[in-house]
Amino acid sequence: MLVDLHIHTTASDGLYSPEEVVQKAKSRHLPAISITDHDTVDGLCEAETACFQVGLVFVPGIELSCEWGASEVHILGYYIEPQDDMLNRRLERLRRERRQRAIRILEKLSTSGYPLSLEEVSRFVCGRVVGRPHIAQAMMEMGYVQSVAEAFESFLGPGGLAYVPRAKLAPAEAIEVIIGAGGVPVMAHPGVSHVDGLIPSLVSAGLKGIEVYYPDHTPGDIVRYFNLARTYGLVVTGGTDFHGTPHGPKECEIGDFGIPAPMFEELKAARPSGALPNNRHLTP
Ligand code: AMP
Ligand code: ZN
Ligand code: FE
Ligand code: FE
Repeated sequence: MLVDLHIHTTASDGLYSPEEVVQKAKSRHLPAISITDHDTVDGLCEAETACFQVGLVFVPGIELSCEWGASEVHILGYYIEPQDDMLNRRLERLRRERRQRAIRILEKLSTSGYPLSLEEVSRFVCGRVVGRPHIAQAMMEMGYVQSVAEAFESFLGPGGLAYVPRAKLAPAEAIEVIIGAGGVPVMAHPGVSHVDGLIPSLVSAGLKGIEVYYPDHTPGDIVRYFNLARTYGLVVTGGTDFHGTPHGPKECEIGDFGIPAPMFEELKAARPSGALPNNRHLTP
């Protein structure tokens, strides 16, 4: 039974609500989970309550999309304080930029002969985070594409007809924001991002962990990043990146990837010593 530390919900671009995700984790007998939605903490309160009710340990989390040159780098933050002021101001800005990007994508789609309104997209958005997967789903519904993957390939991804880049944080900024909110910053799926050269400087900036166990990581990636984590004295984390949808990484169920209990103890110990021991997140 593994601790799955990378799960998305309807608060960002996942299919299941925080409560449904917790039920799934419980039915699979996981000891603990973290919810790590893109650019929002909106699902954490519901997830924490649901975890408490079913006796599952809950780690509040987040996943911040960052850019480094032409590469996209995702930074996970564990044990963040969801009410943190600076964090929430940053998140609001990121969400505003997402909405602006969505409008520009829809403009590009219209001029290319694929009209789509924000209202049509909004039907697929449950929370406050508008992502390209929501636009892809609306495009499928309109019959413009057969799949989310096709929408990314032909329209929404780099080189696509309606590609619009979005202003993102630098990885070091994301680390700063997470530490400021009392959290533990971890590099997500490095085997997908391919930015190993960045790791030493991020360690200097306060990076505390590397996500080693991940569905799209090869056995070679796992050995490589495990050793890198140990070399730099970083904690090892893992999770499924479960979205419940055909997008995201290789399809799997909650708990298929994650870390065993002893490694989870290392993550707990990596919390900043100055941070208040937020015991409610460690109960029961
Ligand atoms: P966004 O956060 O709006 O930039 O959208 C990124 C999200 O879209 C990622 O977290 C994935 O869940 C999904 N995604 C990215 N690339 C693809 C792709 N090629 N096919 C399907 N889904 C993708
Ligand atoms: Zn996603
Ligand atoms: Fe990611
Ligand atoms: Fe993710």
